[in-house]
Amino acid sequence: MKRLKSMMAMGTVCAALAWPAFGQTVKVTPLGGIDGEFCPQDRALVFEDPNGTRVLYDPGRTVAGAGDPRLGKIDIILVSHMHGDHVGNAHSKAPNSGTCEAPDMSVSALPNSSAVNIALAKKAKIVTGSDMPSFFAAKLRANGGNPADSLLARFGGSVTLNGIRIATVTAMHSNGLDPDYIGGELGKAMKDAGIWGDVGLATGYVVRFSNGLVVYLSGDTGITADQERVVRDLYHARLAVMNIGDGFTTGPAEAAFVINELVKPAAVIASHANEVGTVGGKVRPGSKTEAFMKAAKVPVHIPLSGKTMEFDGAGKCVGGC
Ligand SMILES: [Zn+2]
Repeated sequence: MKRLKSMMAMGTVCAALAWPAFGQTVKVTPLGGIDGEFCPQDRALVFEDPNGTRVLYDPGRTVAGAGDPRLGKIDIILVSHMHGDHVGNAHSKAPNSGTCEAPDMSVSALPNSSAVNIALAKKAKIVTGSDMPSFFAAKLRANGGNPADSLLARFGGSVTLNGIRIATVTAMHSNGLDPDYIGGELGKAMKDAGIWGDVGLATGYVVRFSNGLVVYLSGDTGITADQERVVRDLYHARLAVMNIGDGFTTGPAEAAFVINELVKPAAVIASHANEVGTVGGKVRPGSKTEAFMKAAKVPVHIPLSGKTMEFDGAGKCVGGC
């Protein structure tokens, strides 16, 4: 009996070791244009690992530059691709300036981008795939930062920082670098010719946090077979952040197909709707956001700016949803 008890105790210890950070949650806080709403330009999310590491995904135009008080400590910045609404070519003067329909984006972040300015201010690492790391390294160097803070995770590879594993995955999209980030004679000549700089393919991410939660960040993408073969079959993503805006990316029906038939996560956060998604914090009737919620077969969480959601290792929202 005594032996059985000690074996059971050992079993408990083993189970605890096998389940990393059991019971701990990843906190997800949207940094959108207007508190409590889901607005057209909203992309930015901060993921806080149980170990305190904070990851900023696609700062876009709603983070009010490096001085935005909502940022707090930022350790890692992820940029899915170089379009201005993701890397941040402009931003608001302060959180909640303008309206949900027309958020203020009057402050230019050119030629650096908000991602670079935030990385410099926070001494954060920028992890990107494709050919984007050399762009970020050059910008960091040119502004007195450390070029080694720009790290590569190209398709099929990953980097692990502070116990968080970051991989990039296919995104079917374009990824031209606006010549405004280049400037000078070359930038002007490119602009006149209508040519954008080549920084490789656009990407999505799969991020594994220290509590075991695996999150798929779609970036701007169409439907790809990798969403099934890689994101689901290899990485087993349990939470997805899915772009639903149509026109530039999958629309609500296509995004729901990706979630229902390909990735099959436990839950999804809608993103990049390019519309007023909520009014008074409630999903607007007739919106793309509503259409996506109706079409998806798993719980859809709406990223209301400033409202923190908490997810367990299995992708279940256990707080704030
Ligand atoms: Zn976009």
